[in-house]
Amino acid sequence: MPEGDTIYRAARALQKAIGGKVVTGFETGLAKLARVNDDAPIVGRVVEKVESRGKWCLIYFSGDLILVTHMLMSGSWHLYRTGERWQMGRARMRVVIRTADWDAVAFNVPVAEFHTARSLERSDKVPKLGPDVLSESFSVEAGVARLSAYARENPNAEVAVVLLNQRVLAGLGNVYKSEVAFAAGVNPFRAMRTITRREMELMVDFAQRYMKENVADGLGDGIVTYSGNRSTTHAMDREERLWVYRRQGQECRRCGAIVTMRKQGVQARSTYWCPGCQPWVGMDETGAPVGRIDRRPR
Ligand SMILES: [Zn+2]
Repeated sequence: MPEGDTIYRAARALQKAIGGKVVTGFETGLAKLARVNDDAPIVGRVVEKVESRGKWCLIYFSGDLILVTHMLMSGSWHLYRTGERWQMGRARMRVVIRTADWDAVAFNVPVAEFHTARSLERSDKVPKLGPDVLSESFSVEAGVARLSAYARENPNAEVAVVLLNQRVLAGLGNVYKSEVAFAAGVNPFRAMRTITRREMELMVDFAQRYMKENVADGLGDGIVTYSGNRSTTHAMDREERLWVYRRQGQECRRCGAIVTMRKQGVQARSTYWCPGCQPWVGMDETGAPVGRIDRRPR
């Protein structure tokens, strides 16, 4: 499993376990972190969120303090129930964040530092995120501008891989990626240079709407609604509300063609699409898009 994805999953697991929780204990074997903790104690702060940026893991505490760790080859974050025996020796412990139920333990992390939002912004080591699709200030225009700029520099990048790239747009996960491409009628394997402005607008607009609906529904990680039907928020109904995600081999809800799945990108993430609703569009020798690009997505 590639490292970026491992860290993505580690950050997600940390978010689920300690996100929103009050820190009841903090230990570190790293002098630099200990000094910050002496001056501005971590205990009593709330873990606001945990996110991954490439190979970096960021843990945001209330009061504008962010613990930034890089795993390199040797480091790892472990989660243990309170009192559970650790699988690595204490000598390798670098950081422990304790909440009522969990110990989050970083072993052997070679890079660990505290930042404020401002110092993080200034850091040129930690990759910057693209505009957050869920933020109040996000606009479709801003999202399209990011996609167009990326397309100019990476004309051959496949569109669904780009939708997942948190440095282009922050927030979209693997579920939304497929759902958004479907809703916009865009084949997820198309090169960025074949994507029209109108298609970018549709994808960004759907991304924003789906994610907002999802948050409003209070559903967990990465589940999309397409109906906005607030009455069907139960876990059992989730799959019923998806267009293509995890629906390979089943009929498209729109055209009846068979939904397909293929692994995509260096991280081999599963991509789902309907060959009927999301036709392939290639390029001719002059670089002009060829295929059913005139098709109007609904
Ligand atoms: Zn279809």
